[in-house]
Amino acid sequence: MRKTSIIINENENFKKIANIVSKKGIATVCEEALCPNIIECWGSGTATFMIMGNICTRGCRFCYVIKGKPAPLDEDEPRKIAEAVKEMNLDYVVITSVDRDDLPDGGANHFVKVIRAIKEMNPNIIVEVLTPDFRGDIEAVKKVVNAGVDVFAHNIETVRRLTPMVRDRRAGYDQSLKVLKYAGNVIKKSSILLGFGETWDEIIETMHDLREVGVDILVLSQYMRPSYKQLEVKKYYTLDEFKKLENIAYSMGFLYVVSLPLARTSYKAKEAYLEVIKN
Ligand code: SF4
Ligand code: SF4
Repeated sequence: MRKTSIIINENENFKKIANIVSKKGIATVCEEALCPNIIECWGSGTATFMIMGNICTRGCRFCYVIKGKPAPLDEDEPRKIAEAVKEMNLDYVVITSVDRDDLPDGGANHFVKVIRAIKEMNPNIIVEVLTPDFRGDIEAVKKVVNAGVDVFAHNIETVRRLTPMVRDRRAGYDQSLKVLKYAGNVIKKSSILLGFGETWDEIIETMHDLREVGVDILVLSQYMRPSYKQLEVKKYYTLDEFKKLENIAYSMGFLYVVSLPLARTSYKAKEAYLEVIKN
């Protein structure tokens, strides 16, 4: 196929997905976070849905999501998302959410319902979840994984020393490692945002810690300040530095690494999954 035909197809896919999202009134991280990769991802049949509303109970200091009291859960959301995935003809979907510390199970049961509804209506779909830490509740994590996810992602976000400054006080470096460790026998992924003032050695140490708990896919990206209310950027990494970190990560045994300034946890998600299952 000629390159021009690929671009036309990508644009058609993009328009189709944009229409369905707007018609169904569902939230995608792709739009909410103004993700720069949206044309590429939607054009190639991958999207990230945000479930359980767009208000978070936590207040991480780098994040643009609104903090406050979330609305009650929409019990019809699993069906709506499953139908949207079908209409969009997606072959890879990422499901993520805000943190719901207001719910007794942190929203684990709702994740389960969404995953099951998607899989029932779309038997060949690959489902990746990017979850909160469920306050370290391992049973909640296992419940989500056992609902049939193909990739389990939870972000460590930053290095140990900077965690109290960057993330909400209810989050924790060791709590996130524990969530990843006990997610069990599934492909695991995590992301580190760079630019908060971490040292090179601290980045390497965090990569080691993630590998120790069995993370297979690593995403490294540049922190970009969404507004003056969030933390300042302390350093912009060069492409050369991203490449060096990618090489180090592969030498540690990660099976797939995305190390690019504009990468997001769900960027190249399908490629990463396909590469990992080859191994
Ligand atoms: Fe959506 Fe993730 Fe792609 Fe961004 S990188 S457009 S959030 S799927
Ligand atoms: Fe943002 Fe997630 Fe932190 Fe909530 S828990 S403020 S969504 S990074």
